[in-house]
Amino acid sequence: MIYKQKIEKMISRLRQMGITDERVLKAMRAAPRHRFVPAGLEFQSYDEKALPIGFGQTISHPYTVAVMTQALNIKNGDRILEIGTGSGYQTAVLCELGAQVFTIEKIRAIGQSADKILRELEYQFVSRIGDGTLGWQNYAPYDSIIVTAGAPVIPKNLLQQLKQSGKLLIPLGDADEQILTILIKDNKSYNIIEIEELKFVPLIGKNGW
Ligand code: SAM
Repeated sequence: MIYKQKIEKMISRLRQMGITDERVLKAMRAAPRHRFVPAGLEFQSYDEKALPIGFGQTISHPYTVAVMTQALNIKNGDRILEIGTGSGYQTAVLCELGAQVFTIEKIRAIGQSADKILRELEYQFVSRIGDGTLGWQNYAPYDSIIVTAGAPVIPKNLLQQLKQSGKLLIPLGDADEQILTILIKDNKSYNIIEIEELKFVPLIGKNGW
């Protein structure tokens, strides 16, 4: 496979950057990132950068996908709601870990393109176009909810759709800087852990920007 060397380079760079979960590294080795970028950008797809996917949106840096996936500590069969399907690459990585993935994208053309690629690659998932800040009540409660865009506040609907001990992973902050934050549901309250500062595109919608 022509990308094999690039994939191995990405994996060893992720290790150097602090990704230690072997299951996450294995999933990222298996999900073909070059399939989720626009034509002509395939050879850059394993570099440590975000790439444009149209409509002002991006496929996240490999490190961003790795650190977010590692933070969720996904087990086989976990029910995961993803807000912001984007290219579909994060969805593929979650599927590789054996999660049941429910994913929402706000921009129709982006969601449709991700669906097509994910189906060609024979991943099993459930998707829809809509405002993910409202969550997806039909399939709730979830073991984890992952928000792949930066939010100004914590969307209440998302917290309500978590299982007990469920995790909401969300970048929180202003337009320039966000802190990747994890909230773990503990009865009626939440334990909050700040992971690190990263840069995301804005979360648009009723409970977003
Ligand atoms: N992890 C994805 C990947 O690797 O391709 C990156 C997703 S991209 C950084 C964020 C996505 O969130 C964009 O496609 C954007 O359209 C979408 N988005 C923003 N606000 C949203 C909302 N309220 N509901 C659903 N999707 C939303």
